[in-house]
Amino acid sequence: MSKQTNSLKAVRGTRDLLPPDTALWNHVEAIARSVFARYGFGEIRTPIFEDTQLFARGVGEETDIVSKEMYTWEDRARAQSEKAQSLTLRPENTAGVVRAYIEHKLGDSGQLQKLYYIGPQFRRERPQRGRYRQFWQIGVEVLGPVSSGAESPLRDAEVLEMLATLLDELGVKGWQLQLNSVGSTEDRRRYNAALREALAPIKHQMCEDNQRRAETNPLRVLDSKEPADQELINGLPKIADYLDEDSRAHFAAVRAALDACGVPYTVNPRLVRGLDYYTRTTFEFTVPDGSGLGTQNALLGGGRYDGLSEMLGGPKAPGIGFAIGEDRLILTLQAQAEAAGGAASEKKLDVYIAPMGVERNPAALALARELRRAELSVEVGDGSFRLKKSFEAADKVARRIVILGEDELHSSILTVKTFATGEQTKIAQAELAKALRA
Ligand code: AMP
Repeated sequence: MSKQTNSLKAVRGTRDLLPPDTALWNHVEAIARSVFARYGFGEIRTPIFEDTQLFARGVGEETDIVSKEMYTWEDRARAQSEKAQSLTLRPENTAGVVRAYIEHKLGDSGQLQKLYYIGPQFRRERPQRGRYRQFWQIGVEVLGPVSSGAESPLRDAEVLEMLATLLDELGVKGWQLQLNSVGSTEDRRRYNAALREALAPIKHQMCEDNQRRAETNPLRVLDSKEPADQELINGLPKIADYLDEDSRAHFAAVRAALDACGVPYTVNPRLVRGLDYYTRTTFEFTVPDGSGLGTQNALLGGGRYDGLSEMLGGPKAPGIGFAIGEDRLILTLQAQAEAAGGAASEKKLDVYIAPMGVERNPAALALARELRRAELSVEVGDGSFRLKKSFEAADKVARRIVILGEDELHSSILTVKTFATGEQTKIAQAELAKALRA
């Protein structure tokens, strides 16, 4: 076997999230959890891989996700009693949540289910800024039997208002809510037919991708960003003209509730979204150019999926949900903070303990244990460091340094220096935790 000398790297389209960036990830997730809790949501964690059939049926065979972006493999049987099975890393989490809803008969309680998740998703897309092969989504799903009010436009408006609150609390500037209704499955069928008819005589003038979509999934033509095709696309029939009475009334009620809450939105008739399961309300939140996302300006997307549970063999369970691209949210927050005058300063530890001589190491660790148990954040140096090196190391990570030499150990009186003021004092060990907290 030849010796492999190349160093190993994270796989293309995946990345390591490192400190201090992970502090921002944790902050975003903590705010999301706190907002979701105020709206009565509970957390769900579904497996990262599922039966391939779940996505084929739930997301749709003809979507880009299922047709070319999934990480799928044949999982070998390990015992005679097992069967080989096709498995897939989840490309999104809605199908998994609805599967869990069906599997655990969550609808039997008669209650509306308000669930949220935070976790990685996997799609074999062409990597670029804001687009990765492993990316994180923060999402929610609201679903339940019809008797629980799951179909009500109030639910759609509540979810959208919650998103506006979340983005405001995170400090995202300039977000825009793009809103549309794609109607019922029946409305979409009629609209699809009308689109196909309108596309037939003009599709040959479009780019190759759109020619293919015109055949396989005409709604997807509306998603196209191909500049040369925009004029033709804008001239296509509009979904609003194909909504039946109920879908129209539903959409009007969503808008009325948003107006009552003062949540601004723009109706975008071309917003149909890529996934097959959407019905009625669809939406996207975007951020302005220059928010760090390059051409990927969609922060999050979602919509209603009234037929999904039945498509997966479950009971009728209308629902609505969204998925925030957490990577994109973080990029936006970082870019907006930078534009506003620099990133937030890094948080330093409370104290750095510098043992003088390796024989002092055990005592240093014991002192660190005492202070950490008193809820202080502490780093411990090493006794082999010279005093100058200890000071330099401490100044980088902590606000204060405590010197631990032989004298200090005997007297239990410690020398503490505060870097910001240059002040140096002596403090009895029994008083140390209190003094450091000040
Ligand atoms: P979707 O599940 O396709 O509706 O996407 C919802 C959100 O997830 C999008 O608005 C993006 O913010 C984010 N997203 C989707 N695909 C990716 C990706 N490959 N990399 C990073 N974020 C993504």
